[in-house]
Amino acid sequence: AHLDVIESAEPHINAFLKVSADEARSQADAADARRAAGEELAPLAGVPIAVKDMIVTKGIETTAASKILEGWIPPYDATVVTKLKEAGMPILGKTNLDEFAQGSSTEHSAYGTTKNPWDTQRVPGGSGGGSAAAVGAFEAPLALGTDTGGSIRQPGALTGTVGTKPTYGGVSRFGAIAMASSLDQIGPVSRTVLDSALLQETIGGHDPKDSTSIPSPAPAMVAAAREGHKRDLKGMKVGLIKELSGDGFQEGVTARFNESVEELKAMGAEVVEVSLPNLKYALGAYYIIMPSEVSSNLARYDGMRYGLRVMPPEGVPATAANMMAYTREAGFGDEVKRRIILGTYALSAGYYDAWYGSAQKVRTLIIEDFNKAFEQVDVLVSPTSPTTAFNFGEKSGDPLAMYLGDIATIPANLAGVPAISIPAGVDESNLPVGFQFIAPQQHDDVLYKPAAALE
Ligand code: GLN
Repeated sequence: AHLDVIESAEPHINAFLKVSADEARSQADAADARRAAGEELAPLAGVPIAVKDMIVTKGIETTAASKILEGWIPPYDATVVTKLKEAGMPILGKTNLDEFAQGSSTEHSAYGTTKNPWDTQRVPGGSGGGSAAAVGAFEAPLALGTDTGGSIRQPGALTGTVGTKPTYGGVSRFGAIAMASSLDQIGPVSRTVLDSALLQETIGGHDPKDSTSIPSPAPAMVAAAREGHKRDLKGMKVGLIKELSGDGFQEGVTARFNESVEELKAMGAEVVEVSLPNLKYALGAYYIIMPSEVSSNLARYDGMRYGLRVMPPEGVPATAANMMAYTREAGFGDEVKRRIILGTYALSAGYYDAWYGSAQKVRTLIIEDFNKAFEQVDVLVSPTSPTTAFNFGEKSGDPLAMYLGDIATIPANLAGVPAISIPAGVDESNLPVGFQFIAPQQHDDVLYKPAAALE
């Protein structure tokens, strides 16, 4: 049924870079056969899923939406993909994204834009616009994303879907193509909060193949979501983040946010305002730390090991260095090049302390702000994105305008804490608005209860 929807919706949406219909059908048959043989299967067995093309899939082309990886067929599965297969979940295909997950609109894909199912003149958000649009357009009931600075949650907000960034280390990054390793996290995209909890329990847990994977067991998220459905939040203390409101947030976004806060109160939650003063530096710190790590991680695309290789033209010596330069010039898009240049500069001798070193200190201050806030409240809330879905081209020529849209999602990545975006109604233009909960590290269950209560 989902393959049928994909066939009719894709000409309008373009959420998928690749549909793996045959593989999905045989995986669905295999799950049926296991069930028929009397095997007790996982809760999501047989439920199909779309996978962001930032996550490697054995035997299925994986490009990160970059020309530099065109034609690369991974010889192994990411740990999360292995877990999907073990759970009996058919993989429908690979979804579109901003190249190497760098962007907020999916306009930086080397393979065309993905359209927002609510209004195809508008972006679906990014970088994981493909996964969010696939779920929003009912092409897939579930999807996987990666979130380095909001790439699961912001597309969730802009497409009226649920997007969750787990605690850093809560879901294995083995087989996630690296963007900025200290910030990257794989997580669920879904239509309901309970679905997200089911998927997070399926993909999470300790993985010895990821050195930053948390060794302790994951919290009980499905139980927390079910608890939330009782819509009783008595005893829960909710903190409104002072720095993530007011100026720069669209009126419709603020209005829906305030109504949701009233609902939380009506369900018994105690709501207070909390200040995290160093959040005003979060965007600046992120846009130093992230490109620094990007410049280092993307050094591996050298024309030797994977994908594209462009030899120098006649007259230019065919040295390894020249081949690398021609390959990287042809293979990377403008936004990726911009970040490699920024990061290389920030890390270079003589500038390292001033840029990268300072940004890391700011990151510590932000972590301390979160620690202090969580001494006062159980969970923090904010709008997910200052704006609803914007038009194609509106921000693509102005990188700073695009970066500013990440203001509310970036802090959770810098602090490694879990966060979820859920739909909170539509604005006056009938465009969806996202509501974000943020919880302390390793307490992802604390997100799920109020999120399920509010949805
Ligand atoms: N929009 C942010 C960026 O451009 C976040 C990207 C992400 O989470 N992968 O860096």
